[in-house]
Parts: sequence; structure tokens; C-alpha cells
Amino acid sequence: MSNYKESIDFIKSKFYSKDFIPLHAPHFGGNEKKYLLETIDTTFVSSVGAFVDTFEDKMCKITNTQKAVAVVNGTAGIQVALKLVGVQANDEVITQALTFVATVNAIIYNSANPIFLDVDLDTMGLSPKAVEDFLNEYGDLREDACYNKKTGQKIAACVPMHTFGFPVHLDELIEVCAKWKIPVIEDAAESLGSYYKGKPTGSIGNLGVFSFNGNKIVTSGGGGAIVTNNLELGIKGKYLTTTAKKPHPYEFFHDEIGYNFRMPNLNAALACAQLEQLDKFLENKRELAGFYKTFFDSKGINFRTEAPNTKANYWLMCVELENKTERDIFLKYTNENNVMTRPIWQLMFRLPMYENCQKDAQKNALFLEERIVNIPSSFRI
Ligand SMILES: *Cc1c(COP(=O)(O)O)cnc(C)c1O
Repeated sequence: MSNYKESIDFIKSKFYSKDFIPLHAPHFGGNEKKYLLETIDTTFVSSVGAFVDTFEDKMCKITNTQKAVAVVNGTAGIQVALKLVGVQANDEVITQALTFVATVNAIIYNSANPIFLDVDLDTMGLSPKAVEDFLNEYGDLREDACYNKKTGQKIAACVPMHTFGFPVHLDELIEVCAKWKIPVIEDAAESLGSYYKGKPTGSIGNLGVFSFNGNKIVTSGGGGAIVTNNLELGIKGKYLTTTAKKPHPYEFFHDEIGYNFRMPNLNAALACAQLEQLDKFLENKRELAGFYKTFFDSKGINFRTEAPNTKANYWLMCVELENKTERDIFLKYTNENNVMTRPIWQLMFRLPMYENCQKDAQKNALFLEERIVNIPSSFRI
């Protein structure tokens, strides 16, 4: 079992290289240089500019939403999205422990506290059943909202995360949350181009948030977007992320504490050029996923694929090894042989600042934590 030479040779052959194969490298094959030069030639490099508007329009189209707000990064987007649905200090927010740390940090930036609930084995995202079980035990449904019987605090939001671009079971999750009056914010940072029952991820909850960091499927250098079909919330989002300034030709008046979370036009230019290539990126990745599936099936290794009724963007692809020992052998062997692989994140309650947070038994999260490894997933030229 511990001979992964064929895996390494296969991965290298798919990237036509004997040199170092990164996990995910950005690909600039379109109008990137042209649009970036345009920002410099016109002097519009900063917080206003046509590319920001174009980017927001493109995001509305791609995600089939009413409003998109360009922001400085995905983390800031989640932070503001939580505020938009009414999260306040000491409120609680349900999320998964199997996520990137930014999801949880964004909750803390609102002085709220996370509740870590388990994920599903098939999607690796927040489990509707785990949320239902938790709320049946601890939920106290009142006129205005759901409260936690154990702490007395309001459970003000739920943030599922579409792990590596695999959509969570949204219908079931949204049904449970609606029953308990809990708004849903999709952390869609990793899932641009993924679909759940024909609808783009990010467009299905009350709000969705994308990231355009350098390692994501489409990059703006750094950046994010909040999307929503609730026009009122979307407009409020734009307002809050641009210092909450009342429109006026020359006066400055701000009627609440806003943020400077704007995406600079320079970054929006890069994002626009990248978004033009999204379909090409998606096709290219799906093709690689097909090659991987056939290969790893023949080796008896579980290459993770999308759940029924969903279409994943295959942003970061992964295999599930038999156990932790086998995972460690795979990680060591691949990395020593110039094929970059990485284990899935450590569960959030292992981090010192989050070790005392509320959580359930985490059965599936613990299983996946020991077995999931990301493998090279870049665009192939
Ligand atoms: C990348 C990522 C974020 C944060 O995005 P940034 O743009 O890097 O701030 C949030 N959540 C998840 C799950 C991510 O992968």
C-alpha cells in the first residue's frame, strides 16, 4: 500500500513536468495585463473605478444574484455579512470546525462566539442533521429569534462552508435554519462556479461570500465579494463597506460606523480578466478530476467527487486515505518527491483561541481530519 510512486508519476505526467508541482498556482491567460495597464493609464488604481462596477455586475451574472459587493478580501466579506443579518456582540453563530480559520475569525470580529457542529461525510460541509440535533437539544425558539438554552445567548446566524468547492446539503440545512429563525450565510470562498441543484453556491442562503485570494479558482490578488438576492441587504452591504457615507456631491457625512473594506480598482481589473476565463478554468479542472478519478480508482484510493444534485468547481481536489498512518506516508512521500500535497485543516477547536468553544461530538469531522489530503489542482496549460 505504501508505494505511491505511481501516484507521483501520474500527477507529474498530467502537469507535463518532472519539476516541483504546486498545489494550486494562478493562471493568467487572458486580459490581465491589458486591464491592469488600463488602471494605471487612467490613474484609477484605488477605491473607485470602472472595474469595480464591472466586477460587481459580472458577479451578479455568474451567481445569478441581485447584488454583489466587491470587498477587500473574503474574511472581511464574511465579517460584514454577519453584521448584515444582525449578529451582535455575545451572539452565537453555528459553523463547522472543519474549515479554514477565516470563517471563525470573521465571527469573532463581530464579538460573537462560534458553535462548532459536525460535517457530513459526503460533502465535508456543515451537516443539516447535526444542526437539527443541536437545535432540538439546545434551541429555544422565541418570537424574535432562536436562543441557546445552555448559555441564554441568541443564535444569530449559521455559516456553512462549501469545502474545496463541494456544495453542502443546502436545502435541508436552510429548512432547519428557517424553522429556527436562523439566517444562513454561505462561506462560498472556495466554491465560485459550484452549483447546488442547478443554483450557484453563494446565491441560496441569505448572503454568500466569495474570496479572490491568490490560491482560489479566480484571483484578484486579494479580494472578496458578498452576493445576495436581498437587494436591501446588498445595498446596506455596499454602504457599510464603503465607510457608510451619505451620498452628497462634496460634503462628508457618515451616519454609522462603516468600514473601509473596498476592493481597489487595480484588484478588480485583475478579477475581471480572470472571471472572463472562469468557464475555461472549470472545464479544465473537471477534466483533471476525471483523470484523477480513473487513476485513483484503479489504485483503490478514494478520490473525492461531487455529491448527487451538485456540481463542484473542483477548486482543490483531494483523496481520502485509509487511515492517519497511510495519510502520513502519502504526505511524506509526495512532498519529498516534489509533488505538493497538504492535509486538510486541523479542526478549529484545536487552535488555542478556539479550544473552549461549544461543539458536538464531531464524529465525521474527526474522521475526515485524519484522512483527507489535497493534491495538485492547478489549471493545466
Ligand atoms: C480563503 C477562504 C476565506 C477567506 O478569504 P480571504 O480572501 O483569504 O480573506 C474564508 N473562508 C474559507 C473557507 C476560505 O477558504
